[in-house]
Amino acid sequence: MKTTDNKTAATAKETIPRGVTKPKSNAASGLTELFEDGLKDIYWAEKALTKALPTMVKNASSVELKDALDNHLTETEEQITRLEEVFKIVAKKATAKKCDAMEGLIEEAKGMLEETEIGVVRDAAIIAASQKIEHYEIATYGTLRQFAETLGLPEAATLLEQTLDEEKGADKMLTQVAVNAINLEAAEIE
Ligand code: FE
Ligand code: ZN
Ligand code: FE
Ligand code: FE
Repeated sequence: MKTTDNKTAATAKETIPRGVTKPKSNAASGLTELFEDGLKDIYWAEKALTKALPTMVKNASSVELKDALDNHLTETEEQITRLEEVFKIVAKKATAKKCDAMEGLIEEAKGMLEETEIGVVRDAAIIAASQKIEHYEIATYGTLRQFAETLGLPEAATLLEQTLDEEKGADKMLTQVAVNAINLEAAEIE
């Protein structure tokens, strides 16, 4: 009986259907690993943001926008500390693993700076790019918080939810800044 089962498993491994991606030898086999991989990914992303946000602040013309971004930079630094606490909870060394998505979003943001005149139009572009970033973070922290809950890590879930709330707050703040002045002024230029 046992021999037959092993044979079936071995055969299944060899015959991954066409179009199905073959897992790497170190691929995650459980939710714990998937959770930890996600932590490393967002840890990299938050660190990258602490480098990217000052450029956004410098390029913004509106004082309101500069303040909003500056405030979120401070929050981002706290979020990094919070992630380090989560790594401690799961007894893993805090490690960053490149987040391809955030790298792309930051690239796009930089491109939008070059493609806009300084002033309200560039401000509108900064808001657009920043909101894409916040939405990515909201999706990420929502998932990680849920994973933590499922894995029976309530303290980690609470920490991740605090950050999730900050990301949602940043997104709302950016909408507010856009609604208040920038988009209207940018539209008037035409
Ligand atoms: Fe963040
Ligand atoms: Zn990522
Ligand atoms: Fe990612
Ligand atoms: Fe954020």
